[in-house]
Amino acid sequence: MASNFITRALAKTLKQPYDFDAPLIINGIEIKPGERKIIDIPFGQLVSHDVAKLRVHVIRGKRPGPRMLVTGGIHGNELNGIEIARQLISSRRLSTLRGDVIVIPVVNLPGFLIRSRYLPDRRDLNRLFPGAEKGSLGARLLHTFLHEVALKCTHCIDLHTAADGRTNLPQVRICGDDDVALAMGKAFNAPVILPSPIRDGSLRAALTFYGISTVLYEAGEANYIDIPAVKFGVAGIVGVLISLGILHERKSDLKRKHPSALCTQSTWLRAPSGGLFRALVPLGKAVSQGDLIAAIGDPFSTQETKLLADSDGIVIGRTTQALVDEGDALFHIGLPSSSLHSRVEERITQAADHILADSDPTPYYDPIGNE
Ligand SMILES: [Zn+2]
Repeated sequence: MASNFITRALAKTLKQPYDFDAPLIINGIEIKPGERKIIDIPFGQLVSHDVAKLRVHVIRGKRPGPRMLVTGGIHGNELNGIEIARQLISSRRLSTLRGDVIVIPVVNLPGFLIRSRYLPDRRDLNRLFPGAEKGSLGARLLHTFLHEVALKCTHCIDLHTAADGRTNLPQVRICGDDDVALAMGKAFNAPVILPSPIRDGSLRAALTFYGISTVLYEAGEANYIDIPAVKFGVAGIVGVLISLGILHERKSDLKRKHPSALCTQSTWLRAPSGGLFRALVPLGKAVSQGDLIAAIGDPFSTQETKLLADSDGIVIGRTTQALVDEGDALFHIGLPSSSLHSRVEERITQAADHILADSDPTPYYDPIGNE
């Protein structure tokens, strides 16, 4: 649940709930039903003296409906979400909406410019919510983001990757007691859904406080673009938009049904010794208790330590580092609600094959400009 700090700070900053019948005005610019606009909202000046702006793509349907916010790059080096946002705003499908879609490809512009997860002052933007009008650069950015955009939306999908040095199987994280978020998570149809507690100061904490159901999509690793992760992401957002009635379903969408594995919890397997780490199982693999899943070699001898799975589950994340100290987190294992975890692996493999074979999860404009 949202912390008392979040509760008090948000309650102080927003005097009354947003009126969804009112005209949609962002940074003083009105976007009418059926219109599409790109709005740059200044939030502070950088060391270069350039004014930093939040770029917001607003796509409104002619007919009223829910208003979905899609955010990428809250962590500045998490690039899959930025590419997902780009492909989404290029999609022809967004030309007919019942409701609105608002996309911010890069929330953390200062972090993105320095190719970092963090802000230039080393703070984590996703721990600074709700921000403050007169606070640090990150706090000002969040205050602008929340009050100009996010609190004017009804639902949110927040796009992430694993942190530096780790990679994630495409997965959706939801708040366990939010039924709307669970329904959105199922409609996203990522290989795995994992309940995860809301962290203080995060986007999810802030939006959940205001009743804006938010799901987190985590896929791939920082600093890289992973094609399956992007494809699952674009198709997943389209699935959620369909489930909310913002987009209508097409026959080709019906082919993509591979239900997500619902994990009830997850656990990290840590390095039993230091040395050279070699993973012996890929992401998405079903492992059984006692399976050999990795080896850690002593760099100065032929000695090796074996790492065995300590429970039945699915590999949903792992380190990408070869050099590990004793105790380092190596594998993130999701524990599926069904005991047939080998069936879960089969479904994950089928879904991955399907998404890779499908060259057109959502038709989008030719980026070279041949349209
Ligand atoms: Zn992140």
